[in-house]
Amino acid sequence: MSAAGSLVIRNGDALINGAVVSGQDIHVVDGVITSIEPTSAESVTGDVDASGLLAMPGFINSHTHAAMTLLRGAVEDVSVESWFNNHIWPIEVNVTTDDVQLGTELACAEMIQAGITSFADHYFHADRAAAAVIDSGLRANLGMTFFSSQGPAGLETSTSFAADWNGAAGGRITTSLAPHATYTCDDADLTSAAEAASTLGVRVHLHAAETIEQTESSLAARGITPMQVLADTGVLDAGVLIAHGCGIVPDDIALLAPFADRIGVAHCPKTYMKLATNPLTPIGELRSAGIAVGLGTDGPASCNSIDLFENMRLTALTQKFTHRDATRLGVGQALAMAGPESARAIGSSAGRLAVGAPADIILVDLTGLHCQPLHDPLAALVYSARASDVRTTIVNGVPLMVDRELLTVDAAELSARVAARAPQLLDHDPTQSIQTYAP
Ligand SMILES: [Zn+2]
Repeated sequence: MSAAGSLVIRNGDALINGAVVSGQDIHVVDGVITSIEPTSAESVTGDVDASGLLAMPGFINSHTHAAMTLLRGAVEDVSVESWFNNHIWPIEVNVTTDDVQLGTELACAEMIQAGITSFADHYFHADRAAAAVIDSGLRANLGMTFFSSQGPAGLETSTSFAADWNGAAGGRITTSLAPHATYTCDDADLTSAAEAASTLGVRVHLHAAETIEQTESSLAARGITPMQVLADTGVLDAGVLIAHGCGIVPDDIALLAPFADRIGVAHCPKTYMKLATNPLTPIGELRSAGIAVGLGTDGPASCNSIDLFENMRLTALTQKFTHRDATRLGVGQALAMAGPESARAIGSSAGRLAVGAPADIILVDLTGLHCQPLHDPLAALVYSARASDVRTTIVNGVPLMVDRELLTVDAAELSARVAARAPQLLDHDPTQSIQTYAP
């Protein structure tokens, strides 16, 4: 390999602006794509051989709680209320700072294997998530979650994390203010978070209108929707990544539209389907208003896998199915949601193969029998390919996995540490909890 951040990815087919261009060399200097040009006959060696593979922008996971890998598969087949109140929030009393780093390490390794090159994370002890991100080589936008029930310390910790870590790891880490949700943070804290975000030049990342029931209870209690809460507290003006937004109602769209240049929504269909939180995010209405809708996995305690192939496929399928319209959300749109639209939703310039873009690139093998014959590479990516078809993952011009070999993670050693710790987390006191779900 050449010096970190400088390399040539040779002779791959390249997915550029939604179209496949065959036989391209991608040159990278200092983590940035400097040229994409036809493979020249005379240059026969390169740092990364992409022959027979599709080079494309890495997927961008626009909403997750990475450390919750440690709770993967621990709670199944319960309602959203029970999921929070009887299981996840009581168990999270046990989660230590070391657990956050360990769980995030596991998530980062899984994401590298799945071709996810950056993610927007929302969790406690985000400084320890940052340590895992630094070691993994991934790019991430990190927010330190807080509840108003923590008192002033919650907002202060989230603000100081956002200030101290923005731009860390040579710019691979950016930050957000991260109030948990409109129903767990009061208006004063939301207003302060918006002001802090504006001062720091970052955005807010929070859960809002996760379900239609949350919107209905906000209307009943306050006479306004969660989106109106975000407008009234200055969060929309500051810029915000809204997790889920399944309860965004038609009247909200006009409220959101003027802020389309600085807000985005993360759509995580696998979680909605598992927790039966019908309806889905109103993707079509938001996109028509110019608002970026990205794809997220949500935390692995609810989604079980950090896999955007899966969520991309579920997005296309659920849009067609629920709207009874097979022409809805085509393969190009589905792919865009996992890349450039997710990037726009989280305020990133990644998600595209273009000169000047961050060199966050994956090489995908579409030669497997499950993708043959390859009439349409885009259709294969959306409907046939698997996360395990990602051969190579490069972030900021640095290979993190080549031919399925992880270069920044010792998978066996990591698995052993996870296996030693994870069972202890479930041994919890059911009378304790970090929060109550009562939106
Ligand atoms: Zn979430």
